[in-house]
Amino acid sequence: RIVYVNGAYVPEEEARVSIFDRGFLMADAVYEVTSVLDGRICEFEGHVARLHRSLAELKMAAPVDDAALLEIHRELIRRNDLTEGTIYLQVTRGAADRDFAWPEGAEPGLVLFTQAKALETPKAAETGIRVASVEDLRWGRRDIKTTQLLYPSLAKMIAREKGADDAWMVEDGYVTEGSSNNAYIVTGAGTIVTRQLSNDILHGITRASVLRLAREAQMVIEERPFTLAEAQAAKEAFSTAASIFVMPVVEIDGVPVGEGTPGPLAKRLREIYIAAAKATSI
Ligand code: PLP
Repeated sequence: RIVYVNGAYVPEEEARVSIFDRGFLMADAVYEVTSVLDGRICEFEGHVARLHRSLAELKMAAPVDDAALLEIHRELIRRNDLTEGTIYLQVTRGAADRDFAWPEGAEPGLVLFTQAKALETPKAAETGIRVASVEDLRWGRRDIKTTQLLYPSLAKMIAREKGADDAWMVEDGYVTEGSSNNAYIVTGAGTIVTRQLSNDILHGITRASVLRLAREAQMVIEERPFTLAEAQAAKEAFSTAASIFVMPVVEIDGVPVGEGTPGPLAKRLREIYIAAAKATSI
């Protein structure tokens, strides 16, 4: 695989970053994951806009401009013959002698790599996934997409130990989001419920598009927190993220949701979303 590191395209074995990089020492870094379908980038504009928001919240500089970022994405697709998969992008504050205070004038670091993966028709989309609830113990700025991912990673492992595929995190009795995705239920009346945007959750790029597309398809949406009990009693449940699009959730803490199979609304939204993502891919 050819990866991008601070201005150079190199084989992955040759890629090097400093041990003083603050991304490595302190998770002083932000990232994006963008999906690629048919060799084209999905939702590029949304991901770049969120990247700028994350950078601004942490007073971090962008290492290159947006046109250059797009070109790097495209070059990696070309060099790796990527037709379907994801592109990971990470910006770090840079390398400096270890200190909690941010260094003056450190050069921001930029790393990108591709991962080939079946996104459009993975097996999980047909079967749906099972989730287990895990207490949400992350920090208070989950709206910033930092590489501080140890707790979500631990939450996923706790869920796996419980025999589930992923974690839905719960705070004060209400679901916040999945370990790396936004969480939704469909009520008996057919209303889509998902937590409103705040510092408590990541503002998903997929979430924004799915809600817009759902409204365009005359679906009813309520943005509010929901409890685990409400989710277990719901007609359907699903998660969204760039790498899973719309993923049906068929079981929550061992309780089947609805029929215990992917629901019609989640399946329809998945189709609508993928069609729209392809139509606007660049
Ligand atoms: N929530 C969290 C905690 C995430 O890590 C992610 C994606 O990585 C999402 C939600 C979904 O965001 P997006 O749709 O932009 O991929």
